[in-house]
Amino acid sequence: MPSVLKCMDCGQTYPLDRPIITCPACGGLLDVAHDLDALRGTVSRALFEGRLASWDRLDRSGVWRYRELLYPDLPRDLAVTRGEGNTTLYTAQPRLADYAGVRQLQLKHEGENPTGSFKDRGMTTGVTQARIVGASSVICASTGNTSASMASYAAICDMQALVCFPVGYVALGKVAQSVAYGALNIQVEGDFDETLALVQEAASELPVYLLNSLNPFRLEGQKTIMIEMLHQRGWHVPDWIVVPGGNLGNSSAFGKALHELHALGLIDRLPRLAIIQAEGANPLYRSYAENWQTRHTVRAETIATAIRIGSPANFAKARRALEWTGGVVTEVSDQAIMDAKARIDAAGIGCEPASAATVAGIRRLVDEGVIAPDADVVAVLTGHLLKDPDAVLKYHSESLPALAPRYANRMHTIPPALDALAALLTDPL
Ligand SMILES: *Cc1c(COP(=O)(O)O)cnc(C)c1O
Ligand SMILES: [Zn+2]
Repeated sequence: MPSVLKCMDCGQTYPLDRPIITCPACGGLLDVAHDLDALRGTVSRALFEGRLASWDRLDRSGVWRYRELLYPDLPRDLAVTRGEGNTTLYTAQPRLADYAGVRQLQLKHEGENPTGSFKDRGMTTGVTQARIVGASSVICASTGNTSASMASYAAICDMQALVCFPVGYVALGKVAQSVAYGALNIQVEGDFDETLALVQEAASELPVYLLNSLNPFRLEGQKTIMIEMLHQRGWHVPDWIVVPGGNLGNSSAFGKALHELHALGLIDRLPRLAIIQAEGANPLYRSYAENWQTRHTVRAETIATAIRIGSPANFAKARRALEWTGGVVTEVSDQAIMDAKARIDAAGIGCEPASAATVAGIRRLVDEGVIAPDADVVAVLTGHLLKDPDAVLKYHSESLPALAPRYANRMHTIPPALDALAALLTDPL
């Protein structure tokens, strides 16, 4: 049976090349549903391992290497790739693991993707799908990284990119990319949630294809963060996967990936998922904490602009991911996020603020006895340090309002004299 689009609410199915984003019958979220029985005979650890020695452009990509699990019937010529993925799985030095509160911590650095965030893994599949459905324009609402990525992948295949930002809340590195890659950049006088509602309306009224993570093909690409990480670990499953939660696309994709890998026998058990939200943007945490009685929305506010989202589009899929994996949700303050970021940065690894919510979240969950100190934990760093240089410089110069940087690395100014330099060496801080 070929893969189909399947509504997670009413179960209705649609052919894969239909240009729909949500279910036309009921408005529910769609999954790309694969025939797992058929796949069982096709995929194996050995198949993926063999591709590591290949120069084929699809084998070289850390997304398309696993193509049978995303697009069993991929029209190869249409795939738009920048060789994304292949990101480093760092083992945190003891002082960083200590800070997190665990003995063994690994960091999967998705900031090492071509445009500096994991969004490239979803965009390589999303833009490929845009070509499959014959779109010539793509649109997204973005806190910055989706737009940087979409602008790049659209430019690579000569598609027009329409990018809508919530005015005033997009980190410098991200806007710069989108402008540079030649997108049509539009600032919307509203927050992210209002901007997303606008582009959804646009996608249903105008000839533009929507590439937010509501688009199920984005999530297929993002599944490979889990697949590649497990491949890197020799398919040895960790105890915990920790991820920041904004629009909850990644959380949803991780759940689907783990569920499918387990069903296919590529892994022998499931890790638990921990989704970390910022205190000021915590709708999933609120609903989780009261056992899903209400679906909360909030007016989001946090320094971690990539997760400054009050009404996550993939709420239902994230909840399903938590059910599949015995997962948990927690929240962390901006102070905890920025302090954790300073530790990740000073370890030489570096990330943008939203990514650091993971380490802050692990610290909290260890404190609360949810994660055991001897657990095997993998955190996903979602974006590159240079995405948000403002946040770095303001933290270290202690000029962030309402924040007391615990690990500020102050700049020194000296006269051009050796004794002044020598004095700093004997007194390094
Ligand atoms: C998009 C993004 C997030 C949020 O991911 P969701 O899939 O929307 O939950 C977190 N961190 C960074 C750096 C991002 O770009
Ligand atoms: Zn439906």
